[in-house]
Parts: sequence; structure tokens; C-alpha cells
Amino acid sequence: MAVSVTSTNAMDAFWMPFTANRRFLKEPRIVTAAKDMHYTTADGRKLLDGTAGLWCVNAGHGRPRIVEAVSATVAELDYAPSYQFGHPVAFELAGRIASLFPGDLNHVFFTNSGSESVETALKIALAYHQSKGEGTRTRLIGRERSYHGVGFGGISVGGIATNRRHFGSLLAGVDHLPHTHAPEHNAFSRGQPEWGAHLADDLERMVSLHDPSTIAAVIVEPMAGSAGVLPPPKGYLERLRAICHKYGILLIFDEVITAFGRLGAASATELLGVQPDIVATAKGLTNGTIPMGAVVVDAAIYDSLTQNSATPIELFHGYTYSGHPVAAAAALATLDTYAEEGLFQRAAELAPHFENAAHGLRDLPNVIDIRNMGMVCGIELSARPGAAGERGFEAMQMAFDRGAMIRITADTIALSPPLIISKGQIDELFELVAGVISDLK
Ligand code: PLP
Repeated sequence: MAVSVTSTNAMDAFWMPFTANRRFLKEPRIVTAAKDMHYTTADGRKLLDGTAGLWCVNAGHGRPRIVEAVSATVAELDYAPSYQFGHPVAFELAGRIASLFPGDLNHVFFTNSGSESVETALKIALAYHQSKGEGTRTRLIGRERSYHGVGFGGISVGGIATNRRHFGSLLAGVDHLPHTHAPEHNAFSRGQPEWGAHLADDLERMVSLHDPSTIAAVIVEPMAGSAGVLPPPKGYLERLRAICHKYGILLIFDEVITAFGRLGAASATELLGVQPDIVATAKGLTNGTIPMGAVVVDAAIYDSLTQNSATPIELFHGYTYSGHPVAAAAALATLDTYAEEGLFQRAAELAPHFENAAHGLRDLPNVIDIRNMGMVCGIELSARPGAAGERGFEAMQMAFDRGAMIRITADTIALSPPLIISKGQIDELFELVAGVISDLK
């Protein structure tokens, strides 16, 4: 069904998220349909999807199995509450998700977005320590340059200044590890940088400063995506894990981008062999079709919270749409599609070709770094003096005009196409981006 937009006047009512609204209205970028690797624009052009929508459409667009599951479920059970009642689809899905995560990560709390998954993970961490009689553990540790969504918990532990500065004092008792982006040491790394594992040791400094008895959890993205694609230095996550173990601090992985195939495995947890206590997921879970997130929790946390609870309801937390039947059906069909088509494996097989194509842009004008991991890459352009982000914005607009959707964080172009992309389409995408970068002033 085509969607028509009559005038920018009519469009004015939609306050667009994370968008330069005034600029958008002058030059709107509207898509009206999508199938497999392509969007269709309002003026009927095909756009190659270089971003899987917003890191979520991992199986490509309009996949019949998912569309059918959504249509059938909405007709059969449009909504059912998960407070005090249940429906089979959510239980089945929880089991399926748990089976994708290693070790004792086998309890699943449903949310509707990455931001809600983060809030949920942080709250579970605090409630867990209380359930063990360690209620002094309230401090949360995030990392500079991290993105954990837009809830107050997420922006408090998050490390992007623009996302924090307008919103008051945020959560108290939060500290931040240093980020791992150090172009002087690791520019143009292929995959995980060699340099930077020692940056995890800053957690030891925080432990001495605050005392471990005050620290509840550390939250990091195993690979930071939205802050400009920052793969973890080799050994870094292992070190964080070891320090957290040593002091009884929970380790939370924010896998909102990395879970469900993006790195060529079910999760970064599986790929990297580092076991967190809680994993926040969303995006790829439903292939972007219906909003849904899932927080995967270690059995020890679930058991402590449920068994030590002084009240019948063990966790006073949840959402009206937690485990929504239509979203759960979309997720099951998505996981089936990933499995049937071997898309996680496919991503792993395509990753070297993708990496080579990305690093092929190294000598283009203004390219100051290229970073990649799995089916993600970041191409960082130098900022124009006094106009940070402008070059990146123009790259996105030019790519749209020339036939591709790309994503930008300031002057970094981030590419993360659906995992069904062909090698030919990878080449096409990078040729288009190379042309854009070459023609940018
Ligand atoms: N956490 C990470 C690592 C993300 O990349 C994002 C979104 O990009 C979020 C949380 C927030 O997800 P949502 O936009 O679904 O709330």
C-alpha cells in the first residue's frame, strides 16, 4: 500500500526522533515500501538498504513467514496481558531465545525496545543485589561513548554527551569507564583492535575509589554501534569479566545491535566467549517488524530474586506489552527464518568480503578511520572545521539521492545491511559510498 504525503505542512505534526526536523521538512527523505534488500522511495526509486533499517531488519524486508505469522496471530489473539495471565507464544519464544544464549542465561523478560531492555536490565541488577542482602550495591558503571537508549537509566550509564546534557541530573551514583576509541593506536584495525585491553583495568580504580560493596553492575555494548562502531579491543571484555567476577559485580552486555546475527553468531556473547550475567536485546529479534525486546538473565539472578522474595510478586516491573502475542509470533517466525536460511552463518561467511570492501575506501579523501566487525563497519570522515557532522549529513543525503540508505553518527558512516545481502550488492553499496565520499567537499 502506497503512503502519500501531501505537503510538508501536513508532515509538521510528526516530531521526528533523533532527526534535524527543520532540515528534514525542507528536503524530506520518504520511503513508502520495502522488499528484501530494497526500500522504495516516495518518488518510486529503489534504495539499497545499507543499514537493515536501523540495525534491525537482519533477514531483509517483507519476509513471507514473518508477515504470515503476524497476520495469523493478530486475527487469532490480538492482545493478551502478561500480568497474571499468559499465552503460549510468549512462553515458546522465551525458551527459543534462551536456547540461543550460552551457559545459564536462560530466563527471559520481555520489553518493547532496546531502551526498555536496558532499563529492565539495570533494575534487575539492583533488585538482585537487594535480594541477596547486598542492598548497598547501587552504583552503576557505564562507559564513555556508549549508547544504551533513551530512558533515564540508559542515558545515565550512556556516554554520549548530547544525549545527556538537556536532561537534568540523571541517575545518581553512576560512573563511566573510559571509551576504547583511540585512533592513534588502533585506526584502520580490521576486526577487534590489538590495542586497548588494559582500558578495562580502570574498573579496578573505580572499585578502590567506591568500594566493591557499592557497585551493582557494569554495562557495556560488546561492540558499540550507535556511537560510531567501536569493536572491543582484543582481551578487553575478558578483563572486564574477570574484574567483575573478582568483586561480585554483575556484567551486563547491551546486545541490542549485536544479538541475532549481526556479528556472524547468535550473539556477541557466543562469538566472543565472554559470559555476561544479563544481556539486553531488541532490534533483530523481530526483524524490525513489530517492536519487541528481550532481557536474558542468568539463572542465579532469577533464582535469587524469585526464591528470596518477601512478596508474592517478585519483581515489580513490566510493560503492558511485555510478551505481546503478535510481537512474539513475529519473533518466532524471525528466529525460524534466521535458522532455516542459516543467516548467522551467512553473516560470518560474508564478513571477510564486507571487511575488504570497507577497507577498500581507506585512501578516499577525508577518511580518517575504518572499523569493522561482522557485518558492521564504520567509516569515519574528518569533521569540517566548525561544522562537525555536516560532512556526514551530506553523505547520507547524497547516498539517498543516488540509491542507498546509509546511517551516520556525526561524521561516521555506519553500514550494517541485512544479512541476506549478496556479494554483488556489498560491492554495489561500497561503490556507491565511495562515489559519495569522493564527491563530498
Ligand atoms: N542499546 C543499544 C546498544 C542500541 O544500539 C540502541 C539503539 O540503537 C538501544 C539500546 C536503544 O534501542 P531502542 O531505540 O529500541 O530503544
